[in-house]
Amino acid sequence: MTAEIERAAHAYCPVCTPDPGRGDLVTALCGATHPYWGRRERPVNNCPACEALAANTVYPCGHTGSER
Ligand SMILES: [Zn+2]
Ligand SMILES: [Zn+2]
Repeated sequence: MTAEIERAAHAYCPVCTPDPGRGDLVTALCGATHPYWGRRERPVNNCPACEALAANTVYPCGHTGSER
């Protein structure tokens, strides 16, 4: 379970994490903290928790996904 989550592509709040560098530790919407891989090098699997949270209007951190 842990390995699958760590290898999954997590979603991140663009406000909390505006410009993560590859390898930077970032906190995903689901609360997992792990290195960012970069947008073109995403793992094949998506984190189901992040997918569900990213679909919400408001992220757990309080920011809104549609806010620009
Ligand atoms: Zn945020
Ligand atoms: Zn996640």
